[in-house]
Amino acid sequence: MKWRIWLLSLGLTLVCVLISGIASTQVYYKSSIDDSKKYLRVYMNGFDPDEYPLNGDGASAFSKKLNGARVTFMDAQGNVLADSMAGETQAGHSDRSEIKDAIFDGEGFAVRGSSTLGKNMVYYCKNFDGGYLVRIAVFADSDWKIFVSTLPTLAVFAGIMIALCAVTAFVATHFIMDPVKKLAVRAVNDDSVTTGYPELKPVADLLNERNRNIKKQMDKVNAEKEVVENARASKDEFISNITHEMNTPLTSIHGYAELLDAGGMNDEQKRLAYKTILAQSERLTNLIACIINYSEIDNDDLPPYEVDFSALAKETLRALKPAADKRNITVTENIEDNVIILSRHERLGEIFGNLVRNAIKYNKDGGNITVTLCSRKLTVEDTGIGIAEENMGKVFSRFFTVDKSHSGKNGGFGLGLAVAKKICRKSGWDISVESVLDKGSKFTVTF
Ligand code: ADP
Repeated sequence: MKWRIWLLSLGLTLVCVLISGIASTQVYYKSSIDDSKKYLRVYMNGFDPDEYPLNGDGASAFSKKLNGARVTFMDAQGNVLADSMAGETQAGHSDRSEIKDAIFDGEGFAVRGSSTLGKNMVYYCKNFDGGYLVRIAVFADSDWKIFVSTLPTLAVFAGIMIALCAVTAFVATHFIMDPVKKLAVRAVNDDSVTTGYPELKPVADLLNERNRNIKKQMDKVNAEKEVVENARASKDEFISNITHEMNTPLTSIHGYAELLDAGGMNDEQKRLAYKTILAQSERLTNLIACIINYSEIDNDDLPPYEVDFSALAKETLRALKPAADKRNITVTENIEDNVIILSRHERLGEIFGNLVRNAIKYNKDGGNITVTLCSRKLTVEDTGIGIAEENMGKVFSRFFTVDKSHSGKNGGFGLGLAVAKKICRKSGWDISVESVLDKGSKFTVTF
């Protein structure tokens, strides 16, 4: 960090030094040219054609007077008449800008590297009343030469700046990093941090945001862990329930089989033993079928289709009529025609069958059942034994039966309503119960 700041400020300083070197060179160069132009005009004012005739001697004499400045005499068209520099007399100069300006405007200036002399020169040419031209030229330092001459000064300046940069980088990193470090340490321990430095507020916000995200992730992980733990506990409970439900018929089968094996039973006792073994093995088969059915609902991803629930309900009630008649139960049907539900025939049949079978099973002899179906909901109401308030929330739990001995008698495993609830949940429907003990129950499915 310190090195980076140092290198960055060093780089910036060197660039600044270079730019200021170039800029000051340009300023100096321009002002020296302006100065040259000024004193060239003053030189020209000292020219007198009577004193300096327009020939080689005149040019040399005038040049001598001007401390060696180059002097060129030309006719009105710019043809050289004489030049104080040897070898220049014959060269045509009329294309030079200062000469052109002098011919047309009376005077002209130019700065250029002299091709003949290989140096930078400032030229000033004056037209004397259209009769002849006089040009004076002096050497001037080129901008590059000025720049090179400033290099030692620039180097010293750069050296000082490098040292200053090193100190600044150290101090800056110390002052910048210290509050950042402190902020980071506080962010590890606190959920939310604040800072007195406005510049560090985005950092504090970032740390707080990160802390919030971490907390959110942790909450999510904990929630997922809880779900997994609940699922595991629920699975354990499911298995223990299954084991428990299987135990009764198995014990019964085992006991009667042992008695038969021991011998000494009369025919009547043997008949009872065989009958019990048969009934209990049937119960076991039913239990296994119910468990498989219950588990399969989760994996049932078969596509739904339009089911004529009205027809299905009427058909089911017809099939269950003998069971109701057997106990003198009157079934009233309020079934609207053409109630079409998007589901599967077997799943709707399962819900409806379970509710009506329960309404018969848990009814009183000579009781009533009212089945109402419209496009929004189904209700199955009975005048049976009802459900105690404390059990109302549990009836949809798997393996829940209010009366265990009763369930044994009726062959129920406490899976019917659990299956109905599971199908409803999967289909996005709602299933609920209202009940008064000893008066009756009303189950409602809202589509
Ligand atoms: P089961 O096979 O025992 O009938 P269900 O899941 O269908 O299993 O029902 C769970 C329990 O809810 C039943 O054992 C019973 O105690 C109670 N129950 C269900 N329907 C009724 C009803 N219509 N009236 C009274 N109690 C009911």
